[in-house]
Parts: sequence; structure tokens; C-alpha cells
Amino acid sequence: MEDCKSDQPWDFNQLFERLQSLDPGQLQKVELRCRELRYSIRSHDAIHSLRAEPICPRCGFSDSVKNGHARGLQRYACRVCRKTFSHATDTPISGLRNKGRLAEFADCMIQGLTVRAAAKKMGISPSTSFRWRHRFLEDAVHHQARARPGVIEADETYFRESGKGSRSLGRPARKRGGAAMGKKASGKKAVVKKVAVLVMKTRGAPYVADRVLPDMTQKLAMPVAAQIAGKGATLFVDGSGAFRTVEKDLGIKTVSVAVAYEGPVKMTPYGAAHVQSVNNYHERLKTWLNGDLRGVSTKHLPNYLAWMRMKEWFKDDAKAEDFIVTALGKQIINT
Ligand SMILES: [Zn+2]
Repeated sequence: MEDCKSDQPWDFNQLFERLQSLDPGQLQKVELRCRELRYSIRSHDAIHSLRAEPICPRCGFSDSVKNGHARGLQRYACRVCRKTFSHATDTPISGLRNKGRLAEFADCMIQGLTVRAAAKKMGISPSTSFRWRHRFLEDAVHHQARARPGVIEADETYFRESGKGSRSLGRPARKRGGAAMGKKASGKKAVVKKVAVLVMKTRGAPYVADRVLPDMTQKLAMPVAAQIAGKGATLFVDGSGAFRTVEKDLGIKTVSVAVAYEGPVKMTPYGAAHVQSVNNYHERLKTWLNGDLRGVSTKHLPNYLAWMRMKEWFKDDAKAEDFIVTALGKQIINT
């Protein structure tokens, strides 16, 4: 890339002039190549935007020299410990080949392409597409809202346990709408295992934290409340038991909202008594996961929750660069 930029201007003019002698097939090739190069520049700029001065991930010193390229990335050799590394070493994307295509793949995610559609567009296999998607999301799982002030609504929603996408399901495959949905042959209702997704959302602000919990118990919910609610926060909960001792044990003001109450919203000194912001968030989450994506595996649910947080944070303005620096471990949401 640097070579192109440093070329003499007349070289460019000459090249530009020559374009008119190309036939449509050749022009299309040039178009595709330009698109590829633009994505490559964006990918590398995003990766290198994180640390201008390369720091050795092994010993922590920033005394290194450039040492060729590998997997489409500049490599450095540490002069202290003599190891080589790149800006992606020890990050979720370290194992991904061809880092120059990261921005293109990120754009597929932003456009909401399925694993298969992204694979087709990128000319990669569906399994690679699936792996890339999750490498992009892995670090974002931890990019949660923390120690927030203000009104925080906390409520859980449930997702059916699913082994979708796993190679060995560990149980007989279930047909869509099969036995587990309704009744077993014996006439007894089958038990559908579910996991709880606790969402804590700041009212009137884009801060969101979430956790996948095997169940909504006091023991599991309390540490989450302690992490998310900061000084001066008021917790609005739907009256479920999991939060009933938060105020006493953690000193966080907690307002319990009656679930079955259907009258006009009551006012409290801390704000309107409802958990509508978090319930609306649940709705959007379910529409996306269960509707658009037709269900996701429980194993990958935290990754999708992270993706949802990114969607909500950036609205329609997410850029490929945002996804790349997030994949590399920089928290840019909930900040
Ligand atoms: Zn080193």
C-alpha cells in the first residue's frame, strides 16, 4: 500500500489515462481490485490505529524493528526477547488468515448477511465465515456497561437451550417443532430447558450490560447488580425474587415494580415505576435472534448479546473499523 502512495503523480496520471483503453471485462477486474485494496487499507489502518508504537505482547517492551509481513500484517521483532509479533498477536483475530479482508467481512456483518451469504460474498467456506463472525465478537462479550449512575432497569428474559451449530450435539437431534415442543408419546409434557438472559439497561441512555445465567437466582444476580450499578444508581426491577436483598446487602436503592399491575404508570421519587426500556430491549433482541437469525446456540449466545449491544450503540452508523478494533480488544461501546 505504501508503495502506491509514494508513487510519482505522473505514474498515476498515466495509469488513469490507460483505463480508457480497457474493455468492460478488464474494467470490472479493475473495479474489484480497487474495492479489495480499499478494504485492505481500511483493515490495516484499523489494526494499526490501536497502537502506533508496537509493544511486544510477550515482554511488554516497545523496542522492536520491522520484520517482514505474515498473514497480511506487518511483523515486528522484539529486540529485548527476540520474539516476533504483530498488532494481532494474542487477540481473537490472531489466527485468521488474510487480515486485509477483515473490513470486508465486518461490512458483511454490519449489513446483516447470514453466515452463508457472507461466505459466498467473500469466497470463503461457511465454516470459515462462522469462525470469523465469532472471532469478531469474542472480546466484545466483555464490553459491558459498568458502575453506571442513574436509573437502571434490570429484568430477565429466557431463551430455549440450543445446541444449534455445534458439531456434536450431545443428544439426539431434534426436529423443528418436534417432541420437545409439545408432548411426548407418553402424553407427558416434555421439559424445555431454558437459560436466563439478564439485561440491565440505563433508562434514557445507551448503556447496556447483560449476562447469560443458567437460572435467575439471587446468588447469580447479586454480583451482576454490584458490578453494573454505580454510585447514585437506582435499580428498577420487576419484583422478581432475585433482586429483593440488593438494597439491604449492596446499598443500591431498588424500586420494585408490580408485574401484574396494569394501571397508569406510578411515579416514584426516583422516576416512573416501570421496566419498559429493558422490556423493549428484550423484544428487539428476541425479534433479531429468534426471528431474523432463527435461533442461535446457547454456547454462542453471549457473542450475539455483545453484537446486539454494538447494534444498539451504533444504531445505523457502525463502521467496519469499529468492529475491527473491538475484535482486537478495544472497548468502544458502553464507554
Ligand atoms: Zn519482547
